[in-house]
Amino acid sequence: MVIDGPAGSGKSSTAKAVAAQLQIQFLDSGALYRVATLVYLNCQKDYQKFFEQLEESEISFYFKKKKFHVFLDGRDVSDEIRSMEVSENVSEVASNADVRIFVNELMREVVKHNDYIADGRDLGTAVFPDADLKFYMVADLETRAKRRLDEVRSSGKDVTLEEVKQNIAARDDKDSNRSSDPLKKADDAILVDTSEMTFEEQVAFISSKIKETISLQDKT
Ligand code: C5P
Repeated sequence: MVIDGPAGSGKSSTAKAVAAQLQIQFLDSGALYRVATLVYLNCQKDYQKFFEQLEESEISFYFKKKKFHVFLDGRDVSDEIRSMEVSENVSEVASNADVRIFVNELMREVVKHNDYIADGRDLGTAVFPDADLKFYMVADLETRAKRRLDEVRSSGKDVTLEEVKQNIAARDDKDSNRSSDPLKKADDAILVDTSEMTFEEQVAFISSKIKETISLQDKT
C-alpha cells in the first residue's frame, strides 16, 4: 500500500496510525532521502565525496511505537533529519537520479519481507507501480505549513510559519518539476483531500479502504 503527496498533506502521520492499527509495517521514503541529505551535508555538499560516502554508509530503520527510527552508521538520526537545513537541501539531493536509484533499491529490498504501508512522492508511479492500493493525499498550503510547523517545533527548532511555508512551496515546486520521477498522482490512486478532514477521519478513511481491499483479495 502506498500514499503519495506533497509535504504536510498528512500522509506520514496517517500512514503511521494506519500501520499501527492494522499491525503492518510503515516505511517513510522521505526519511531515507533526508538521511542521504545528511550524508551530503556532512560531505560539505561535495557530490563526488557524497557518492563515495553514501555507498559506504550503513543506513538502517525500523518502525516502533508509531515512530520511524532511522540510523546512519549506527547513530540515531531520526530527529536530526527533520532540521531546516536538511529540509532546505533535500529536494535538490532527491532530484539526483543516482540518489533515487540508491533509495529505491533500499525500499524494494525491505518490502519483500513484510506487508507495508509506505509514503512518499513517486511510490505509486515509479517505485511500486503494482501496489495493491494507492492513495494520493493533498491539502492547501496554509494547512500543510501549520502541520509541518508543529512537527519542526516539536523537534526543538524555532522557526516561523512563513519560513515553513516558503520551504514547503519551494519543495513542491522542485519535487513536481524534476525530471526523475516527479511528484505526481498515479492514474489509479485514490485522491484524498485532507484540508477539511480531521486526523481521525483520514485514518478511518484509509484503513477502511485497505480493509475492503484485503477482504476482496481473501474472497478471490
Ligand atoms: O516526506 P518528506 O517531506 O520528509 O520528504 C522529504 C523530501 O524527500 C521531499 O521534499 C522530496 O524532495 C523527497 N522525496 C522524494 N521522493 C519520495 C519521498 C520524498 O523525492 N518518494
